[in-house]
Amino acid sequence: MIDPAVLAPAREVLSVKYAERRVRRSDVFHDYGSYGDPDGWLDMDYNFWVIRDDDGVTLVDTGYDVAARDWLGEIPVTTPPECLELLEIDPTSVTRVITSHFHYDHIGHLGLFPTAEVVSGGAEYDYWFAKRDSGALGGEFTTEADLAVVQRAEDAGRLRLVREPARVGPSVAVHPVGGHCPGELVVTVQTARGPLVLASDAAHFYEQIQHGWPFFAFTDLDEMREGLATINTMADRFGATVVPGHDARTRERFPAAAGRAGQVAVVLG
Ligand SMILES: [Zn+2]
Repeated sequence: MIDPAVLAPAREVLSVKYAERRVRRSDVFHDYGSYGDPDGWLDMDYNFWVIRDDDGVTLVDTGYDVAARDWLGEIPVTTPPECLELLEIDPTSVTRVITSHFHYDHIGHLGLFPTAEVVSGGAEYDYWFAKRDSGALGGEFTTEADLAVVQRAEDAGRLRLVREPARVGPSVAVHPVGGHCPGELVVTVQTARGPLVLASDAAHFYEQIQHGWPFFAFTDLDEMREGLATINTMADRFGATVVPGHDARTRERFPAAAGRAGQVAVVLG
């Protein structure tokens, strides 16, 4: 585990929302009935994250085209390319894209960033490309077209696969955890206000961090529990603030970004 104290503070860290849907607690938390809590609705946001740093812009995930491929009833709010415009980010100048994992809602617009270094989990790459090569992608949360963009980054020598905790930018480190996907990456970022843990889909909602509740979709349940424990260790040991990947309450906990960016982004640090 990399101590965020060794990282230089980022200039700015944003959470950017591009879509939303409402879900039942009993649908998204694994074995929810066993907890004895009442059912109810949760607002689920679809986000990506922006880190502005001494070496330029790092994105964590790239969203997807909701209107073109509505799989689970997501409602588009602002397309990721429109979000980038509001944030005044030129995709061709983005330094680095960290993919938390290869699900369609996290690597959907990866092709917009033709020069960016792509940082991905080695186990994620192994898992999905083995599935692709054996024709087993049917019904999965990613497609051949999504993976082809990863392949193009690899062919261009821009893909960095990470199998151990690693510093990948001035203010940024990644930690492979399993669970939701085999090579899920949890991202830690140092900021002037202290470290952040961008959990992405290692923890979709605050309840999962608070109670250690697994999400319903996983490739390895034990690894998902271990991932949640790792996130909580980072919070305790380093005083880090944890930001779950899909929880709409994040927008209530952090201030809106200044100017037009505030239409889609909150400032995490
Ligand atoms: Zn997701």
